[in-house]
Amino acid sequence: MGRIIMKSIALLGATGSIGKQTVDVIRQHPNKFELYAMSFGENVEEALHIIKQCKPKVVAVKNERVYQSLKDQLDEPVRIISGKDALSEISADPNVDIVVNAVMGSVGLRATLTAIESKKHIAFANKETLVTAGHLVMEAANRHNVPLLPVDSEHSAIYQALNGEKREQVNKIILTASGGSFRDKSREELEGVTVEDALNHPNWNMGAKITVDSATMMNKGLEVIEAHWLFDIPYEQIEVIQHRESIIHSMIEYVDHSIIAQLGTPDMRIPIQYALTYPDRLTLSESKALQLTEIGKLHFEKMDEARFPCLTYAYTAGKQGGSMPTVLNAANEAAVALFLKGKISFLDIERVIERALDSHNKIEKPNLETIELIDNEVRKRIFQDYL
Ligand code: NDP
Ligand code: MG
Repeated sequence: MGRIIMKSIALLGATGSIGKQTVDVIRQHPNKFELYAMSFGENVEEALHIIKQCKPKVVAVKNERVYQSLKDQLDEPVRIISGKDALSEISADPNVDIVVNAVMGSVGLRATLTAIESKKHIAFANKETLVTAGHLVMEAANRHNVPLLPVDSEHSAIYQALNGEKREQVNKIILTASGGSFRDKSREELEGVTVEDALNHPNWNMGAKITVDSATMMNKGLEVIEAHWLFDIPYEQIEVIQHRESIIHSMIEYVDHSIIAQLGTPDMRIPIQYALTYPDRLTLSESKALQLTEIGKLHFEKMDEARFPCLTYAYTAGKQGGSMPTVLNAANEAAVALFLKGKISFLDIERVIERALDSHNKIEKPNLETIELIDNEVRKRIFQDYL
């Protein structure tokens, strides 16, 4: 029997879709992982449930209001911290081995940088961080020699397909896209679709923002930028194809035209666990094995750029670089929030993003403060226009 080494985890965004599935993975391996610290935004009820189950020592909350609400209802002896730096504080905690960043949005940026500087093992779901400040995050990761282990299923697939291979022998990365909730609708049919329609994803059960991003195809656009930074590969060598079944999670074509793909059922616990255990694998008894003979056929289609302009905006902003991806991400976060509140229509999302990109004067190599400033300004202007 090998020696069992317990790893303690700080889980940022514990109450979200990735957060809850991470808790599930932790609970399946009580001798390997413990939830030492967690953070959440507003969902006190779910947080209380996780605290009862997993008994973390530290909980980071978004603000004083949530702090008070949690404190009033809590029986467990937990240290609660709140405020702007709380996410970073648990990311740097010396008792923490692994930081899982599963918050939604660029709000996770400083915590990502802190986890890197603290040389934690990082399981990384928070793609908006890499879109808004990829150059800063990767520069820090390289300087501190800290790998970012992707949780996003496509990037986990690529990470796995790269195992033992040489980066310089990669021809291209092929990202697969399910097509999202509206893949079978024409652009005309998108007029008047509802929030409820948008949240009905055919293959994956995810948080609201990423489900809308999948329907606009911005999710794939963000993932193209995420892949560019994570795998240090030019945009010209990243291709997106539509694959309705979400069985092949992504692939790499090598210089000899060999393609290596990673397959699995659409179950995020598989890439979450791989990011926790890399380079090892553990059993995941509650996930279903893929039965290819039951699926029978897999389908692949070329992406229709005119149908999904958000994908083009992301490629363009990524290639332009500088502060353009920061604007892309902030405008998208603001537009999706407005759509979810019923303030704008589905097709307005792309109009809002296009306008924000068109009216921005690019800044080359923005530093952290400049990125946060632009991120704030872009959101503020959009909210002023619609609220
Ligand atoms: P959810 O919206 O379900 O969860 C987001 C989490 O972040 C919640 O715990 C939420 O807290 C917390 N949060 C939100 N805003 C703040 C804030 N201002 N301060 C502190 N915490 C905050 O999102 P998902 O789990 O779907 O996605 C999380 C990340 O993972 C995203 O970057 C997404 O793109 C990525 N991802 C998700 C996948 C999925 O299957 N869901 C797949 C691949 C990537 P609360 O709810 O308590 O307010
Ligand atoms: Mg993905």
